Amino acid sequence: MASMTNHDTDSQDAEAQEELLQDSDCCGNGCTHCILDNKPRPSKRVLLAGKRNVILSYTKFRLLRRESLDGQVLLLHFGHAAEAETETEDTVLDIPPGHHVMMRVGSLLRPYSPYWSDFQAKEFRILVKLQRGGPMSRHLAVVRPNDLLEFRGPIGQYVHDPTEAKCIYILAQGVAIAPTLPLVRQVLENEEDMSRLWHLVCARDLQHVYFREELLEFAQFWNYRSCLYLPHQQCESAACQEAGHCDQECPNLRRSLRYRETAKVCRLDASGLATHANPSIPGQRVLIVAGDANFQRTMAQSATHSLAVEPAHIYLL
Ligand SMILES: Cc1cc2nc3c(=O)[nH]c(=O)nc-3n(C[C@H](O)[C@H](O)[C@H](O)COP(=O)(O)OP(=O)(O)OC[C@H]3O[C@@H](n4cnc5c(N)ncnc54)[C@H](O)[C@@H]3O)c2cc1C
Repeated sequence: MASMTNHDTDSQDAEAQEELLQDSDCCGNGCTHCILDNKPRPSKRVLLAGKRNVILSYTKFRLLRRESLDGQVLLLHFGHAAEAETETEDTVLDIPPGHHVMMRVGSLLRPYSPYWSDFQAKEFRILVKLQRGGPMSRHLAVVRPNDLLEFRGPIGQYVHDPTEAKCIYILAQGVAIAPTLPLVRQVLENEEDMSRLWHLVCARDLQHVYFREELLEFAQFWNYRSCLYLPHQQCESAACQEAGHCDQECPNLRRSLRYRETAKVCRLDASGLATHANPSIPGQRVLIVAGDANFQRTMAQSATHSLAVEPAHIYLL
């Protein structure tokens, strides 16, 4: 763990505004929005609050809760570890939807995308999939409540304008569903936002769909639709075992789905995307894709034709 220097609040504030980025600040993971081109800076919301965003420069956060979902996937909940009383009063935590943060352990840097954050309480949560043999995964596999970790951000470019009603397609792959939740909440929690959302969630099978309860809550809103794409969904029936996956009409699959849940036993592809085009609904088409580089590239290419999204309105998280 890297040691922290003991700045007082004022000098930290100045440093946060002035901090120069160096090549070594890049994690080398090939992020679409690299920290070198997206310097963390105060948002309008923070400036309006007249406070400082604690995460603009590397700051310690305490692990408050750790939950293992299936051994390979962890929910980690962090809270800002204030070093002085004034730091508690004068600061907030601002991680806008669609932005990620950089975790630093010694010289090791890795980006993570919060699925929830609290502006006043200065807490955030991430969903982490441990990668076999990965250096950060080795570290995170053994973190325990009360451990301190360093983060910096927010990094990203996505900005949503709620005054213009849009058709927003949000495509998520596996654990990358996490950063799409704040994007959905941002629209649904604003009653004046008339944008419509299509949340297309790709996972191996139902067991690997994270945040199902949240998706069901979203489904109560008039302007939200979701569809699960589950190419490896397989029940115990002889027919589905023989086929290697459930049939689209499989009664066991139907029974596993909850009210307002829709699932397809296939990969999401260009023709699948086209079924959500709804050309009669007016509004600018916007595409947001969260997943690995290959998923992002394939979906962005397909959506330009299938959903008539202009390249300028495609955001890769
Ligand atoms: C912008 C951005 C946001 C991210 N947000 C999250 C997040 O919220 N949660 C999360 O768990 N991870 C996220 N990641 C990935 C994360 O930064 C790390 O790469 C991951 O935790 C593994 O780190 P590591 O050091 O253990 O292994 P690494 O050294 O990074 O990788 C080890 C091996 O696993 C492979 N690998 C790494 N990531 C993936 C992946 N996602 N899918 C398939 N193979 C992979 C690598 O190619 C390599 O072979 C994000 C990545 C980016 C670019």
